[in-house]
Amino acid sequence: MTDANPLLADSLLPDFAAIRPDHVVPAMEQAIAAHRAAVAHATTQAGDDFDTVVLASERAEFDLARAWAPVGHLASVADTPALREAHAQGQAMMTAYLMEAGQNHDHYAAIEKVAARKDFPILSPDKKRAVDLALRGFRLAGVALEGEARQRFLDIGVELSDLSVKFSNAVLDATEAWSEHITDEDALAGVPDSDKAILAAYAREKGLPGWLVTLRQPSVQAIMLHAQDRALRARVYRANATRASDMAEDRSFDNGERIERIMALRHEAAAILDFSDSAAHSLETKMAQDAQEALSFLDDLAVRARPMAERELDEARQFAREHLGLDSLEAWDMPYVAETMRRILHGVDQEAMKPYFPLPCVLAGTEALIERLFDVRLRRRDDISLWHADALYYDLVDRDGTILAGVYLDLFARAGKRGGAWMDVCRSRFRDGNRFHLPVAFLTTNFAPPAGGRPSLLTHNDVVTLFHEFGHVLHHILSEIDLPSIGGISGVEWDAVELPSQFMENFAWDKATLIGLSGHVDTGEALPADLFDRLLAARQFQAGLALLRQVEFATFDLLLHRDYAPASGARVNETLAAVRSAVAVMQPPAWNRFAHAFSLIFAGGYAAGYYSYLWAELLSADAFDLFAQGDEGRGADFRREILAAGASRTAAENFRAFAGRSPEIEALLRSKGLLTA
Ligand SMILES: [Zn+2]
Repeated sequence: MTDANPLLADSLLPDFAAIRPDHVVPAMEQAIAAHRAAVAHATTQAGDDFDTVVLASERAEFDLARAWAPVGHLASVADTPALREAHAQGQAMMTAYLMEAGQNHDHYAAIEKVAARKDFPILSPDKKRAVDLALRGFRLAGVALEGEARQRFLDIGVELSDLSVKFSNAVLDATEAWSEHITDEDALAGVPDSDKAILAAYAREKGLPGWLVTLRQPSVQAIMLHAQDRALRARVYRANATRASDMAEDRSFDNGERIERIMALRHEAAAILDFSDSAAHSLETKMAQDAQEALSFLDDLAVRARPMAERELDEARQFAREHLGLDSLEAWDMPYVAETMRRILHGVDQEAMKPYFPLPCVLAGTEALIERLFDVRLRRRDDISLWHADALYYDLVDRDGTILAGVYLDLFARAGKRGGAWMDVCRSRFRDGNRFHLPVAFLTTNFAPPAGGRPSLLTHNDVVTLFHEFGHVLHHILSEIDLPSIGGISGVEWDAVELPSQFMENFAWDKATLIGLSGHVDTGEALPADLFDRLLAARQFQAGLALLRQVEFATFDLLLHRDYAPASGARVNETLAAVRSAVAVMQPPAWNRFAHAFSLIFAGGYAAGYYSYLWAELLSADAFDLFAQGDEGRGADFRREILAAGASRTAAENFRAFAGRSPEIEALLRSKGLLTA
């Protein structure tokens, strides 16, 4: 190559405009080789001090991420056939290499030597923490094992990843295998036109006239929420709730034996690493101390939510009887009844609210909120190399004008951009001897672009999304930790990493904040208070029932993993039945086989971790409540003890440093309207 590869440039920011697809593979070849050489150098040196081994490893990681992060980002926001191809090649190289690096026994041994040195106890807490987390990562990956145990552990990993693919494929195949062809439109009475268009498209895919009801999510939603035909709802419910199970019409996708095998292997892997069970293994990297702490939290929630859930169920029964002529309320009636109640009693038209949230207003409001909370300002820059005309770049500056960090915003949907919203790391904060790298983040959303001479208009959901992702961004860019592996979101416990994002979300439900940032696109008028009140009531509609459902899934997941014993097997149905009789206010039919399609815990990363959703809500609601109590210094506390501290301490220590106590459950209940006052 004649010109310099921009992906390898040692610059503060990537030169996005200069990056071409043909830069990717050569850059990654070089970056991976450099990482391999740097780690080898760090582990074979005579020195076994922190800088020689650990700081050098952090530097190697930083350099590798610096080359790869812009590629991953571009593949998500500026897709072209050539880039997609280059990204896929780079991705394959990275996956293979990370596997190799993660199993590097010499690297592990070298870091262990650092930890064994006499001066280790007097290193700074951050350095010790980085060493501890690195060693833990290697141990959990089986690198510390010797001989047969090590081989067995690796074999289990391979078999589990194969099973996880087969589990999700069985769910997908079972989803595709069932359908019901409808030619009489009356059978779809109640289903909105937009949903019917989706069902018609499914029919066209198969060369059929009319509509095809399938088990794909939009179809299940459309029928369960809207179809007046009760028998149709019952058929869809049954087909959906027995997917990939022994209760399905077609049993060839049954995941039952796979679940048994997955649970047995997880238990064995945990035992090899000296854990009592696979829940303990999973919780090793989480904030909750052990399964019991998470289970107690869930039990407490269930007990507190139950009276409200029972009241909500009574109301639904009464509504179904009086307005829908249903004398009994079956599992396949519940979503339909709830949706009808929601529409009639709490109708909130997201479209009608959009004029109150023009993007420029919302952005200005967000900037003001961030300044008010954390005493930092976002300052727009126009001299930065970007990948698209829609993209923006901001410096984050301190009160005295010092630049602390940077953030890219790319907010509008367009062709070649992946859907959804996310935050990603561009650069980590890193103090490497005399060199200092500022943290930089990407914030990406898919809002409707400006049209008809008007700015982009956001729904309230969009505002919530923007605040959520800004929470992740702030966690990254307000880091004050010098080592990348324990700064910002890096190294933070799985069940605590959503604390800043959900914390920020709360402000989109805060009356003063939301009304304050609103401004009607034509009149400038603020969002009327009664519209806000309706929005809030809709949010809390059937919150008790929804909470109990989450508690049910989370408890099932924890008990299944904690109580597994080789002699008795996984006991999926027994465990689910026991949890339901303890938690649920409405018992699903005995043939419901929800677990057989629960890919998040059997094929995804949520094993003994589903409770994390509720746990993070607990933390964020509690933290937000401390703000709502009006103490002025709270923003500075949150910034210092949680955002700036990252993973330099445990999440539990961060929370206690911020709140002065451990998390308490009342704020979560209050946010769901389950507790008055
Ligand atoms: Zn998030």
